[in-house]
Amino acid sequence: MLWVAIVGLVATAAALALAGRRVLFLYRLAKSGQPAPERIAYARENVGTEIKAQLVEVFGQRKLLKWTPSGTAHFFVMWAFFILATVYLEAYGALIQGAITGRPDFHIPLIGTWPVLGFLQDFIAVAALLGLIAFTAIRIKNSPKKLGRGSRFSGSHLGGAWFTLFMIFNVIWTMFLFRGAAVNTGNLPYASGAFASEAVAKILPTSEVLEEIGLLLHIGVMLVFLVFVVNSKHLHIFTAPMNVLFSRRPDGLGAAQPMRSDGKVLDFEEADPETDVFGRGKIQETSWKGFLDFYTCTECGRCQSQCPAWNTDKPLSPKMLILDQRDHAFAVAPYLLAGEKEKESFGQDVLALLDKPLVGEDGVIHPDVLWSCTNCGACVEQCPVDIEHIDHILDMRRYQVMIESSFPSEAGVMLKNLENKGNPWGMSEMKRAEWIEELDFEVPIIDEKMPEDVEYLFWVGCAGALEDRAKKTTKAVAELLHIAGVKFGVLGPMEACTGDPARRLGMEFLFNMLAQQNIETLNDAGVKKIVATCPHCFNTLANEYPQLGGTYEVVHHTQLLAHLVEEGRLTPITPIEEKITYHDPCFLGRHNKVYAQPRDIMAKVPGVQTQEMHRCKDRGFCCGAGGARMWMEERIGKRINTERVDEALTTDPDTVSTACPFCLVMLGDAINEKKNAGQAKESLEVVDVAQLLIKSIKQG
Ligand code: SF4
Ligand code: SF4
Repeated sequence: MLWVAIVGLVATAAALALAGRRVLFLYRLAKSGQPAPERIAYARENVGTEIKAQLVEVFGQRKLLKWTPSGTAHFFVMWAFFILATVYLEAYGALIQGAITGRPDFHIPLIGTWPVLGFLQDFIAVAALLGLIAFTAIRIKNSPKKLGRGSRFSGSHLGGAWFTLFMIFNVIWTMFLFRGAAVNTGNLPYASGAFASEAVAKILPTSEVLEEIGLLLHIGVMLVFLVFVVNSKHLHIFTAPMNVLFSRRPDGLGAAQPMRSDGKVLDFEEADPETDVFGRGKIQETSWKGFLDFYTCTECGRCQSQCPAWNTDKPLSPKMLILDQRDHAFAVAPYLLAGEKEKESFGQDVLALLDKPLVGEDGVIHPDVLWSCTNCGACVEQCPVDIEHIDHILDMRRYQVMIESSFPSEAGVMLKNLENKGNPWGMSEMKRAEWIEELDFEVPIIDEKMPEDVEYLFWVGCAGALEDRAKKTTKAVAELLHIAGVKFGVLGPMEACTGDPARRLGMEFLFNMLAQQNIETLNDAGVKKIVATCPHCFNTLANEYPQLGGTYEVVHHTQLLAHLVEEGRLTPITPIEEKITYHDPCFLGRHNKVYAQPRDIMAKVPGVQTQEMHRCKDRGFCCGAGGARMWMEERIGKRINTERVDEALTTDPDTVSTACPFCLVMLGDAINEKKNAGQAKESLEVVDVAQLLIKSIKQG
């Protein structure tokens, strides 16, 4: 047995040296990135939350199990990695014990002869084998050769994925060869329980040499796999738990992150574009968390399959956005990690690569890719390893807008209007209160302090105050609150845009300006509770204003109305005999997890028959307006709002409902086009759930 041990241990040392070298390289590359101290601080201060995240996301595979067939297969293969580690412990024990005593009958102390462990090892290996068969079938069915862009694997490194499956298969069959032979020689530590090993033993001859070959093959396969893993996308085995640990909680949605330079939040009064990092213009300006995202991508393509831009033939794939940055980071890594002397020896080709802009016609990411994103969050929501695509996109947009002044020109008009008039349309602030004149009751305009008896500040939003279709929602909500006896006031001309479109475009400076102005107004008025009809305003007020010192209790109107209906303060009576399909606004649903309340309201309206679209709730499909896309032309591929309305039409609805003024406009425009083309019935309309509710209440 001595030669077996020598071969096994020498091979192990060589593989560990190769793998260790690669791990050191990856560590140094990530460390060369921008600091992200907030990630470490959060993990440190929220140990309980992080443990729960590891249990649910990593060990429980929550997100993957939403994709039932592949998720179940992955669940078993992942657990095989943990449980079969005990088989490798036994293998190394046998290797060493065999060399010392001549008999490789090692068992793990205390639990090593327990039949339950023997059973568990065999069971998980068989389950993983079935998982491999499922993976193979899924990959063949979803082959990019067959489905083209429709395949979530389109653009992924397919060779590496097949090799990974092959290596896991090798781990399993060599395990059974080793254990089956050990059953016959009497060296397997389990008298019973290892059912599959015992079955394999029946077809093997009794041979110590066969056991030794099995042992060496089993160890050898693992060593080759280890070296391959740390050099491939399968690296996620090790990095996924770390990426989950350092991800934002509860997820990378909701608030956009403030701009940081050298790990500190940038103060625009003191910031200097010459010395501070403004977003990301080069790969070396990526934070270590960004590098960790690159290392962790499994190339599964779940993000790509849900992306509205990708699904309407635009060049943006969230997966490729991560992979292209990763490939570039690896290409420039030798220079980034070289010492000063060594750097002098690099040729022009490497230096050119280093100067390659992150975004540009000849950059790592094409501008059409960057500007196609609606910030809908479908990618972040689906990513099983918590990669934060929107953070990457926003950082790149910030550099493009604030340093390069390079962005779709149409959006420039919106920025100018925000700066000069405080709303994207450039309308007079006096128009913000005009909708009140159409009501038959008084709405107090708060110009100083909130009166004691006024409970909510109704944040109307620019669209809600100035856009005709959205104004109908505003009036419906005001009337409903009035009927329910909820005291509320509005800021009227004192309200300015929350800054969401500026921030999502990348103009952080303007966002800061508008946000600070609004926070001052809200704080001076002593506002505590806010109700907002626009999910973008709702998200900004609730999740982003606390970054600048504005902390309020913010609800979306659907949350408040559902509560009032539940309490019996609003009672829909008149039946609305319509078939209605509800469209989830991304910034209400995915970004803030409000899925139930709009549906609860509709469920309480008599006569309403609801029908879900194929893509709904956390897999809902964007209307195309988020991420400041509302203010840009959509020149590439199919229009996202048309795609969404096509899907709505498959439910044959009488009405499409939603809970966002931007969705209302986008879907309304697409429905009008369909009507003009004779592809939708004339009576079809899109309404806010508040309009449905008031209709049922008022007619009663
Ligand atoms: S946020 Fe939405 S549009 Fe942007 S990359 Fe992700 S899925 Fe695509
Ligand atoms: S980013 Fe996440 S969802 Fe997208 S391919 Fe990578 S691992 Fe999969």
